[in-house]
Amino acid sequence: MEIDGFRGRLITAGHADYDAARSVWNGSVDRRPRLIARCAGTADVAAAVRFARDHDLEIAVRGGGHNVAGTAVCDEGIVIDLSAMRSVRVDPAGRTVRVQGGALWGDVDEASQAHGLATTGGIVSHTGVAGLTLGGGIGFLMRRYGLTVDSLLAAEVVTADGGVVRASADDHPDLLWALRGGGGNFGVVTSFRFALHPVGPTVLAGPVLWAADDTADVLRFYRDFAAEAPDELGTVVRLGTVPPLPAVPEELHWRPAVAVVCCHAGAVRDGERAVRALRRFGRPLADLVAPKPYVAHQRSTDDTVPHGWHYYWKATDLAGLSDHAIAVIADHAYEAGSPRSYAVMFHMGGAVARLAGDTTAYAARDVAHNINIDAVWLPEESGERAAAETAWARRFLHALQPHRVGSVYVNFLDADDGTSRVREAYGERVYRRLADVKVAYDPGNVFHLNKNIRPGATSPAVVGPSAGSPGRHRA
Ligand SMILES: Cc1cc2nc3c(=O)[nH]c(=O)nc-3n(C[C@H](O)[C@H](O)[C@H](O)COP(=O)(O)OP(=O)(O)OC[C@H]3O[C@@H](n4cnc5c(N)ncnc54)[C@H](O)[C@@H]3O)c2cc1C
Repeated sequence: MEIDGFRGRLITAGHADYDAARSVWNGSVDRRPRLIARCAGTADVAAAVRFARDHDLEIAVRGGGHNVAGTAVCDEGIVIDLSAMRSVRVDPAGRTVRVQGGALWGDVDEASQAHGLATTGGIVSHTGVAGLTLGGGIGFLMRRYGLTVDSLLAAEVVTADGGVVRASADDHPDLLWALRGGGGNFGVVTSFRFALHPVGPTVLAGPVLWAADDTADVLRFYRDFAAEAPDELGTVVRLGTVPPLPAVPEELHWRPAVAVVCCHAGAVRDGERAVRALRRFGRPLADLVAPKPYVAHQRSTDDTVPHGWHYYWKATDLAGLSDHAIAVIADHAYEAGSPRSYAVMFHMGGAVARLAGDTTAYAARDVAHNINIDAVWLPEESGERAAAETAWARRFLHALQPHRVGSVYVNFLDADDGTSRVREAYGERVYRRLADVKVAYDPGNVFHLNKNIRPGATSPAVVGPSAGSPGRHRA
């Protein structure tokens, strides 16, 4: 297969790199595209879109390849693969950064931190910038600097007709609004421009860990602690067995524990004050909070979620951490069969909540916490283990039903989360506005292997898988 004028690499079955090129972060995803177009630049992306349309091929778009639903790869069709487009250019004076559409958060953090700057990114450095940004972007810096999309100033986009447009506050503002949370529905983003903010480069960060038996007490304390925390303090709670990381004392490896992972995006001295009460609560197994480079903190849990393991997620936003919700979490978090499975809760609020709900397509800004239940098993453990871990995640989510607010972070949805959950992510008003923008930029739903927004959809559509389904389901 040839694409006229294509400068990057075209990889097909039988090529030595085919299996590596079609694999994504979630090792349970096993799809065989007809063609992987590893693009070298914007012109390649545009050529690949036109080629796919001319040959009636399904299009999957790959940024970092991290989406748990595996939407970055398809069966039969073409993967427009941006993984070779990872350049990051910082303008320290203007405090902005230009990032190509296949970059990872580690690339951005490293380049920006060389100037003491950062923007809100994910908490694992090998996550892709594109998919994370297009879903909203939550992370340790969000309470101080907002979601990733709150720092998104502009984007270069290859649209469904193979054209190139720039979305900014002045050009195609409707498109910029939709890109700020509406996912990969509106085109292929070849580059992003973000605002940067002063961070570190040394920050006070790390986890405090307590025994699993103390979970309910710790979470009750944490609920009040988090509610009073300054915006500079980002915290993420991890519940599960302790991963065997070199930074964690060996006697704690694989022990069930609750960890509150902190990152204070201000002066270290202020951070010490902000986390003092947390460190003193109860009897921690370990207190690993210390001044460290922000970049090192952002990489600190990379090895706990490597590429190739099998993953299945269930997620929801939470109405709050009531005593009953805490009891449900404490009862279910350690019931997984695999020592690799865990749950993670992000504390939202701060700058995220200060913008109105429809400022960006990421809408659920008044949520205090969300939870992502991550079932994990090894490739050689498939079969019964996969079924047991999957059942655990579903059971856990089901038990949380009374505590759900009716919204969910779109980037945490898995392949079996149907159309109704995509609508849940946005709420009806924002979903409808997204559906209108979709009509303007992709009326034929060319980009539909994603958390799909149906063009012009006004009423709840048939409930069914919306992401990762290898079959065609254009509107
Ligand atoms: C270990 C891990 C940690 C995570 N931590 C966080 C976190 O801290 N905060 C957070 O907010 N999320 C987090 N996530 C979720 C993450 O935001 C999503 O998985 C996101 O989809 C990853 O982006 P990606 O580019 O790697 O995805 P990919 O799998 O490459 O792409 C996912 C979808 O995004 C779209 N897409 C990708 N690239 C482009 C592009 N250039 N142009 C247009 N559309 C594109 C496509 O629709 C594609 O199907 C995490 C995920 C993992 C696996």
